[in-house]
Amino acid sequence: MKIIQTVSALRRWRAERPSPEELGFVPTMGALHAGHLSLLKAAQAQSDAVIASIFVNPTQFDRPDDLAAYPREEARDLELLEAAGCQAVFMPHASEMYPSGASRVHISLPPLTGVWEGASRPGHFDGVALIVNKLLMLVQPHHLYMGQKDFQQTVVIRAMLEELFIPTELRVRPTLREADGLAMSSRNVRLSPAQRAQAACLYATLSQMHKQWQEAIPPGQIVSWAAAQLQGAPGCQPDYVQLVHGRTLEPVTVPLPPEEPVVALVAAFFGPVRLIDCLPMTDQTMFFA
Ligand code: AMP
Repeated sequence: MKIIQTVSALRRWRAERPSPEELGFVPTMGALHAGHLSLLKAAQAQSDAVIASIFVNPTQFDRPDDLAAYPREEARDLELLEAAGCQAVFMPHASEMYPSGASRVHISLPPLTGVWEGASRPGHFDGVALIVNKLLMLVQPHHLYMGQKDFQQTVVIRAMLEELFIPTELRVRPTLREADGLAMSSRNVRLSPAQRAQAACLYATLSQMHKQWQEAIPPGQIVSWAAAQLQGAPGCQPDYVQLVHGRTLEPVTVPLPPEEPVVALVAAFFGPVRLIDCLPMTDQTMFFA
């Protein structure tokens, strides 16, 4: 596996790829887990070569303490990527990606970037859109692999690809979960054993919301129930829980026709650790098209 640390080395690697070749790209912030590896596996099955990136992107963190506390496990990550058969990994220093310090370019896709996670973490998705754009310019992959767990991120990036005519196809993969349903996340290692157990309430609530949606319970009632449920769950400080449209991210307040994608989004703190999760309420296949 080729370890690439500079923009110029990445450009050289890209220029030397054989043609024709389908290149798959899996961007990550490292501290890899089985969810990341499932993206790599899909990329490998569907591409001729796969490149991953590990970059804890400072511009997508709204809180310096969150950036500082983000887990970093580079040596282990490289072993996992190598074992997974990845051809290359790009792991630049921040000064490579932001040579002029603060970026002179700003990418925002309102209203998608300003709601839910974007409202709670101002500037977060502008930072995500910017770094994904920079990485796509360099890697020029045919396919970009992202996890459905970060649902809003997939909606923002899909919109950016369309808006900027970027010739990369986004492929969204399902969320990998622990045995009790907790979505795998690099942030889970920061949970104390008690918080780790308490965090299972997120998926339990999402699952109940799905059941209620299937029973045609009015959306407003489902959301109120979920909010009360999380409010009362030990150790859980909910930020938001909502039913939203899968493309516009607008709240779903009335029943929609079955062909409209609907997803439940949730964010909550367990101590200092903020977790997000989501669950499609409607047919999964419409989310992976
Ligand atoms: P991150 O390192 O957290 O930025 O995540 C890198 C990629 O892995 C993103 O596209 C995430 O959506 C995806 N990912 C994170 N957690 C999971 C999971 N539990 N299942 C599937 N994909 C995930």
